[in-house]
Amino acid sequence: MLKICADIGGTKTIVGLINEELEIIESHKFETYINNPEQQFTEIINIAKNYLESVEHVNDTILNIAMPGPCDYTQGVFLNPPNLQKYNGFNAGEFITEHSSFKPYFVNDTDAAILAEQRYVSSMTEDFIYLTISTGVGMAYMRNGTLVSGSDGNFGEIGHTIIKDNSDYQCPVCKQYGCVENEISGLAISRKAGLLLNKEVSTREAIEMYNAGKNKQIIQMIEEVIYLTQKLCTNLYSIFNVYNIVLGGGVTQSTLPYKTRIEAYAQKHHLIQNREIVVRISNLDANVLTGLYYVNKNK
Ligand SMILES: [Zn+2]
Repeated sequence: MLKICADIGGTKTIVGLINEELEIIESHKFETYINNPEQQFTEIINIAKNYLESVEHVNDTILNIAMPGPCDYTQGVFLNPPNLQKYNGFNAGEFITEHSSFKPYFVNDTDAAILAEQRYVSSMTEDFIYLTISTGVGMAYMRNGTLVSGSDGNFGEIGHTIIKDNSDYQCPVCKQYGCVENEISGLAISRKAGLLLNKEVSTREAIEMYNAGKNKQIIQMIEEVIYLTQKLCTNLYSIFNVYNIVLGGGVTQSTLPYKTRIEAYAQKHHLIQNREIVVRISNLDANVLTGLYYVNKNK
């Protein structure tokens, strides 16, 4: 039986049909309506209804939805997602129930992703951290093969913890200086490059300039981003007592040398020296979307 799953991101949303092999049978991608949650969920419902009419063997009752946190995942209420600030207080659970016959299930996007990653990591270890670096930064934790999602599903909001103590950039969301999301995310790379070059620069362009090796300021800026990421991951290895981190998200799919640099730094500075410390770069497309299949496994 296929399940209808939706991954709401800060930039793009994907609604797809997933089978038990975690394959995407159909998918539809659109720009997230960042200013209009009603329009956003109307679009999701319409795509879902369309799947019911056009594809066979689709579970017609369930709608699994991944939302960037923090949220009340029991009811489907957005609390304060940094990249979807207009959604604060919006009750997606109520909206879906009022406008369709679907029963919605909500989950943190990184929790969905780690469920998909687990299939590929489980032969190596049952204890690992998933860290995603894309528009924002998020994490999830698998302990002894079981997802740890925190007291209310908001485990791992690491984006607004402090990584750089002398930063002069104040986060508009948490109001602190030097939080993870504003120092090492894709948005942060693009913002920092824009300031240095005094024009709009995309994350991809900044990384290309780093690779070209000509602009000293850009090289220095990205070197610092990688250095801060090394420190962040070393903290995670120690705090959670894991030896494996899976890195996902668009920025980690680039040519930046995350794996070698993080492994070397953590291996050097971790107090436990007789264990190998491993970074695996995810090679799963759409791990949030496919991992949603497992959200209510028995239904
Ligand atoms: Zn912040």
